Amino acid sequence: MMKKDKTDRTDAEWKEILSAEQYRILRQKGTERAFTGEYNDIEEEGTYVCAGCGNPLFSSDTKYDSGSGWPSFYAPVADGHVEEKKDISHFMVRTEVLCAECNGHLGHVFPDGPKPTGMRYCINSASLKLKKDK
Ligand code: FE
Repeated sequence: MMKKDKTDRTDAEWKEILSAEQYRILRQKGTERAFTGEYNDIEEEGTYVCAGCGNPLFSSDTKYDSGSGWPSFYAPVADGHVEEKKDISHFMVRTEVLCAECNGHLGHVFPDGPKPTGMRYCINSASLKLKKDK
């Protein structure tokens, strides 16, 4: 029996819904190349939602230029919208950031961000969709 997330979608369904790049990142924990993502340079106002399930994840209010080449935020939009999990892959100890609704891989969080949290949520553009403020 294939394990399903809160959205109840199977792997085959995800493959159909998502683009190849979104699937590789969200469902297979891939990483987009630095400075290539759609939202790296964007400063527009709005809410970044999960590209997989639409769950609100980050507000443009917390977005900042970290120079890393990936969209960076100092906090999630609200408690319980993202999950954090220890990740020991690639010979590193990191903290993975996942969508709390669909369990999709978003990126990693590092303790080198700006005030007030001191955290840097380093997120793949392909995992996000910007819902612009009107
Ligand atoms: Fe999601």
